[in-house]
Amino acid sequence: MANMRMDKNPMPEQDPALRRGNFDEVALGYDRETAMDEAARCLRCKVPKCVQGCPVSVPIPAFIAQVAAGDMEAAYAAVAAANDLPAVCGRLCHQEDRCEGQCIRGIKGESVAIGALERFVADWHLAGRTAQDAPPAPEPNGHSVAVIGSGPAGLACAGELLRRGYDVTVFDAFRHPGGMLTHGVPSFRLPRAVVEKEIARLERAGVKIVTGVQIDENRSIDSLFEEGFEAVFIGAGAGVNVPLNIPGEDLKGVYTAYQTLPLAEGVSLGKRVAVLGSGDMALDAARSAVRYGAEQVWLICRAAAAEALYARKEDVARAQAEGIEILPDHEAAEILAGPDGRVAGVRAVSVEPDGSQTDERVIAVDTVVNAASASTGQRLLDSTPGLNATAAGGVAADAVTGATSRVGVFAGGDAVTGAATVIGAMAAGRRAAAGIDVYINSR
Ligand SMILES: Cc1cc2nc3c(=O)[nH]c(=O)nc-3n(C[C@H](O)[C@H](O)[C@H](O)COP(=O)(O)OP(=O)(O)OC[C@H]3O[C@@H](n4cnc5c(N)ncnc54)[C@H](O)[C@@H]3O)c2cc1C
Ligand code: SF4
Repeated sequence: MANMRMDKNPMPEQDPALRRGNFDEVALGYDRETAMDEAARCLRCKVPKCVQGCPVSVPIPAFIAQVAAGDMEAAYAAVAAANDLPAVCGRLCHQEDRCEGQCIRGIKGESVAIGALERFVADWHLAGRTAQDAPPAPEPNGHSVAVIGSGPAGLACAGELLRRGYDVTVFDAFRHPGGMLTHGVPSFRLPRAVVEKEIARLERAGVKIVTGVQIDENRSIDSLFEEGFEAVFIGAGAGVNVPLNIPGEDLKGVYTAYQTLPLAEGVSLGKRVAVLGSGDMALDAARSAVRYGAEQVWLICRAAAAEALYARKEDVARAQAEGIEILPDHEAAEILAGPDGRVAGVRAVSVEPDGSQTDERVIAVDTVVNAASASTGQRLLDSTPGLNATAAGGVAADAVTGATSRVGVFAGGDAVTGAATVIGAMAAGRRAAAGIDVYINSR
């Protein structure tokens, strides 16, 4: 008999006054008792719409039934068969637009806390409380594939190829794998140890990860084929913030989010910071600025309201509790200089669809952070003859198979779409793995 309580079990979290001063994880996770209680709210629908809402089709009712029964090992095995990064997805997926958005319990009350439960079982596993580890790799099929980029797209592609018997090598330009999970998302939302452990599990399963190797004109995609790889997947992400193209953008004190996010603790961005952008990255840049010591932080965004930001709703609420002032329906028209030539303010305007301005205000700030959308860097496109780009500058790839304009080269994730989501990138990586499988087997 399901627990018919209307509300989710709340996620315990660090007190806002405390967390403003540290980079420790804000959301603390369910304990076993709370997880079992929440799992009992699932109705075990015969046609589970939540699964349709999940881009990698996690068997949600099945794993939640195992949590309700207290068998966390079986719950983890069910999740991990579909999702190579469940502890990451439980924390970062926009569940309200995905699985939880489809949950039948959400019609009259709150949906089942699917993400929190996925996080719980993954954390249970990562804490070493289960005997279950990487499933044994299937018989090698004798084919090898190179993956460029160790973010969610590359890792999901590699994990799926491994399950299909491929020998997979992932190359990443950075010294530490994980893409934006390691180099973007701050530790107060995704602790580094969580990412490291999920990647270590994939490595134990057999994925080879080579870091500090940039694939470009010096070691090109063509040279990977010469080395014997039979197909290449590009999961190179979108690591460049799009320029704002407004006056004052080149002033001292203007940074991109990618410059500020990986800063070490103790770095100061000044007392008053304006962050420009509407997504998770912008929210994270603003929340990081608070933790770097800023006293006032504004998030200037085109979204019509705080609730309309393209970010996890619970993180919007947490950011507001940390004192971030969200200025919706506005965009920066100009960054203003002070007498010393550094940033002194931002002129923000509200622009109607017909181009008229209905509001203008000047906010005095020490620092401006550009967290506007991101696009793919050019180097892979430039160093790979015949690789076509999208109009937005990404790698052009088939939406179903991931095939690009170059035979044997596939692509997915932010490299194709521009900055998007973890689970979208993972789903694209998995689809491309299936496309690579068909391609190699049909040669
Ligand atoms: C601050 C921030 C917060 C975010 N929060 C969320 C969130 O809450 N929820 C959510 O769903 N999404 C979030 N995102 C978006 C999410 O992180 C990305 O959509 C996702 O990481 C994209 O995965 P990817 O594998 O396509 O690319 P990436 O994660 O960017 O990984 C690409 C990798 O490719 C490597 N690479 C690039 N070029 C080369 C080359 N030529 N040779 C070798 N290696 C190369 C890079 O070093 C990098 O490691 C956030 C992003 C940021 C920046
Ligand atoms: S992977 Fe994301 S969308 Fe899928 S069930 Fe987990 S939290 Fe929901």
